[in-house]
Amino acid sequence: MSESKNRPDSSRRAFLTTAAVAASVAVIGLRPRTAKAAMPHLSEADPLAKSLGYKANAGQVDKAKFPTYKPGEHCSLCRFFQGKAGEASGFAGCQIFAGYDVDAGGWCASFNARG
Ligand code: SF4
Repeated sequence: MSESKNRPDSSRRAFLTTAAVAASVAVIGLRPRTAKAAMPHLSEADPLAKSLGYKANAGQVDKAKFPTYKPGEHCSLCRFFQGKAGEASGFAGCQIFAGYDVDAGGWCASFNARG
C-alpha cells in the first residue's frame, strides 16, 4: 500500500477517536449533579480523605499541615461539590471522593473555589 492511501485512513481514525472522546466528555459534563441518592458520609479516617486533610468541619482543618486553607472556605463553595452552592449545612457528593457525600461545611486540600 502507498502512503497516500494510509493517510486518509489514519486521519479518519484520529477524527473518530477525537469525536468519541469529545462525546464522552460531553456526556460526563451533562450528568445531573443533584439527582443522586444519598451516599455514605465521607469519613475523616478514609485514607484519601486523611491525605487531603478532609475535615467535616472546615474550622478544624490542620492549618499548619494544610496552609492553603483560608478561613471561610468550605465544600459548598468548592467547584467539586455536587450540592447547592453556598449552602451552610447538609451533605452532597464530591467529584474527588466518588461514592461518598461530604459535609457542606467541610474542607479538603483539593478545595477549588467555584468560578
Ligand atoms: S474537593 Fe471540595 S467539595 Fe470535595 S471535599 Fe474537598 S473541599 Fe470539599
